[in-house]
Amino acid sequence: MKFFNYIEGIFTALRSLAGGMIVTWKELFTPKVTMQYPENRKTLTISNRWRSELIMPHDENNEHACTACGICMMNCPNGSIEVLSTTIETEDGKKKKILNKHLWNYGSCTFCNLCVITCPSDAIIFNNEFEGAVFDKSKLLHRLNREDSKLRERKKDTAPATTNTTIKKENKEA
Ligand code: SF4
Ligand code: SF4
Repeated sequence: MKFFNYIEGIFTALRSLAGGMIVTWKELFTPKVTMQYPENRKTLTISNRWRSELIMPHDENNEHACTACGICMMNCPNGSIEVLSTTIETEDGKKKKILNKHLWNYGSCTFCNLCVITCPSDAIIFNNEFEGAVFDKSKLLHRLNREDSKLRERKKDTAPATTNTTIKKENKEA
């Protein structure tokens, strides 16, 4: 009986080996999909769905849409965002936050996109840059607002832009 089990074991092993080799040989003749990176850097196309670097778009006047509300910071599950702001009083006596620094930690971000979808001003987005490796860990801390940038004031006679929050409210009501 032991001898029979021994012979059966050999055949099972050979069958399993042959199964693996069939897959290997099949792959030898299928079209290759290997990318010659970094040689193909200029022609490489990355999917728009790829999330890599969080950025704050600025327009030609060096203005952004961040109101320093801090919602992205509150919603980030990893504490990867820090919004530093100053509260000022406007001419009509209202309190208003001014963004000093919007900091994002590339090293702890899990790219969940929560900050982007909850931002009521659509002020931040992910680009699809993929080369984010650095030698110095401190370089993973990004300041998203530019040095002398400021909030883009909404024109009074234009209707407010449709934001993610508005869309969500509409979906809830529907
Ligand atoms: S990025 Fe958006 S959510 Fe974050 S502080 Fe600015 S306006 Fe608020
Ligand atoms: S993508 Fe997620 S983890 Fe990264 S900063 Fe935004 S909320 Fe935080």
